[in-house]
Amino acid sequence: MAQVSKNARTGSTAHKHVCSCGGDVKMRAVFQSGKLRNVAVCENCNRRERRPKDFDL
Ligand SMILES: [Zn+2]
Repeated sequence: MAQVSKNARTGSTAHKHVCSCGGDVKMRAVFQSGKLRNVAVCENCNRRERRPKDFDL
């Protein structure tokens, strides 16, 4: 059994998503249909998707 270093998991930010334009994707809370929802927005081109992983497609 190989021993996995515990340090391998620390230090890196989980789930960093990048838009196809190269901009950073940030989660943002917006009102939509009277409800507060979290959406993923590209800071560069303002493209908006429901989930950050939609930018990976
Ligand atoms: Zn973008």
